[in-house]
Amino acid sequence: MKTEELIAKGLSLPLMEAFYTIQGEGRFTGHPAYFIRLGGCDVGCVWCDVKESWEAGKWPILPIEEIVAEAVKYPGRLVVITGGEPLMYDLGPLTSLLKEKGFTTNIETSGAHPFSGDFDWVCFSPKKFKKPHPSIYKVANELKVVVFHNSDFAFAEEHALKVNENCELRLQPEWSKSEKFTPLIINYSKYHPNWKISLQTHKFMDIP
Ligand code: SF4
Repeated sequence: MKTEELIAKGLSLPLMEAFYTIQGEGRFTGHPAYFIRLGGCDVGCVWCDVKESWEAGKWPILPIEEIVAEAVKYPGRLVVITGGEPLMYDLGPLTSLLKEKGFTTNIETSGAHPFSGDFDWVCFSPKKFKKPHPSIYKVANELKVVVFHNSDFAFAEEHALKVNENCELRLQPEWSKSEKFTPLIINYSKYHPNWKISLQTHKFMDIP
């Protein structure tokens, strides 16, 4: 099979990096986790802190067996698939292989592409720069909105109306604006208690 075909079937994927660390944000904050960061993103957030991930062609294309073989070397059995925008790929084969090896599978996605894969936890972080695909709203376990601008509170509420009723709601200050927005988020959450606060604790711990 040609490489393009293997990628289209989700059997080989561009891997930007993979590392074992502590999940710093969202519901699984504090959990040891193996991160698989896939290359490629067409969302274009102005404040993106992994802009080098955008170009998929820059990264090695690896068979999913090889990606999973690295993951099993570490003792933790929580895996977070992130990017880039991981839903640019069919994540079905990768997630079933991870599950076969006993992993709990989490994804961090902007939801900008059709949903795929077998995930135990879907963290949906919509971005203003590319509209989410409708398939994400019913599967999202967590709506995590990054606050970079005052208008992001209204943006967050707009998406909260669309997600399923079990979806947890979180607001997270964008790192470079956290001095300004953390107090506003604290206040917002106190008066809109369906929202919880997510902080990028890995940045405080100075870990990836
Ligand atoms: S979706 Fe994620 S990787 Fe893509 S531009 Fe936005 S922050 Fe960066």
